[in-house]
Amino acid sequence: LVARTPTKPATIVSVANQKGGVAKTTSVASLGAAFAEQGKRVLLVDLDAQACLTFSLGVDPDEVGSSINEVLLGRASIADVRVACDDGVDLVPSVIDLAGAEAQLLPRPGREYILRTVLEEVRGEYDVILLDCSPSLGVLTLNALTASQALIIPMPCEMLSHRGVGQLLDTVTDVQKILNKDLVVWGILPTLFDGRSNHAREVLADVGERYDLPVLDPPIPKTVRFAEAPAVGRSILATSRNSKGAKAYRDVATALAKKL
Ligand code: ADP
Ligand code: MG
Repeated sequence: LVARTPTKPATIVSVANQKGGVAKTTSVASLGAAFAEQGKRVLLVDLDAQACLTFSLGVDPDEVGSSINEVLLGRASIADVRVACDDGVDLVPSVIDLAGAEAQLLPRPGREYILRTVLEEVRGEYDVILLDCSPSLGVLTLNALTASQALIIPMPCEMLSHRGVGQLLDTVTDVQKILNKDLVVWGILPTLFDGRSNHAREVLADVGERYDLPVLDPPIPKTVRFAEAPAVGRSILATSRNSKGAKAYRDVATALAKKL
C-alpha cells in the first residue's frame, strides 16, 4: 500500500459526467498514475458497477473479497478493502453488485454523506483521492460530489458531447447549496481531442465560455494507445510512457498538483 504517515489530509476529487464513454475512468487511472509518478500518495475509488477502473488496474472484480459495496453498507472499512496496484496507487475496487448497493442506500438517513464519512478515516494517509463516478446522477454520484473538494468534468471534443453538462452543473449547484458548500469545479477536461479536426478545435474554443468554467490544459488527444492499456492492468503512463496521451495527462496532473 502507498498509504503512509498522515500529513495534510488528501484533496478529494470527483471525476464525473453522467454520459458514458467520455473518458472518466481513463482520466482517473491516468491522472492517478501521473500523481503517483510525482511521488504523491494516491487513492482511487471505483464508484461504477461496471467496475471498469477495477479491471483496468489489473484487479478482477470477481476475485475481490470486499469492495466499495461493503464499505458503503457499513460492513467493511476502506482500510480493509483497498488494494495496492502496479501503477503505484491504491484502489478501492467495485463489484457488479454495486448497483444493488445504490438501492440499499436510498432509504438511509444521511445517505449522501456516507462516502464522505468513510473516506475521512483514510484521508490523512493520502495526498489525493480520485473518485471515478458512474454514468448517472444517482445517489452514488451525489455521495462523490458531497465527499469532494473538487470536480473535474471530462468532455469529448465532439458535437453534442456537451449535452447534459448543464444538468450536471445544476446538480453541482444543488450540492453546493445543500450538501457540500466547499465543492469547487476545477474545470472541464477536454478528452478524445483530434487536433486535425476543425470541429474539435471549435468545440474546445466554445465550451469554456458556454458554461463559464475553466478548461483544463492541455486537451487529451485521441489515440489508439488508450484502448490497449487496460488489457495489461496498467495505465498508458506505464504501457506507452512517451505517447502524446500519457504526456498530456502528466501535464494536466502537474497543473492540478498546485491546487492540492
Ligand atoms: P467513461 O468512464 O466515461 O465511460 P472510459 O474512460 O471508459 O469512459 O473511456 C471510454 C472508451 O474510450 C474506452 O474504450 C477508452 O479506452 C477510450 N478512450 C478514452 N480516452 C481515450 C483517448 N484519449 N483516445 C482514444 N480512446 C480513448
Ligand atoms: Mg467509467
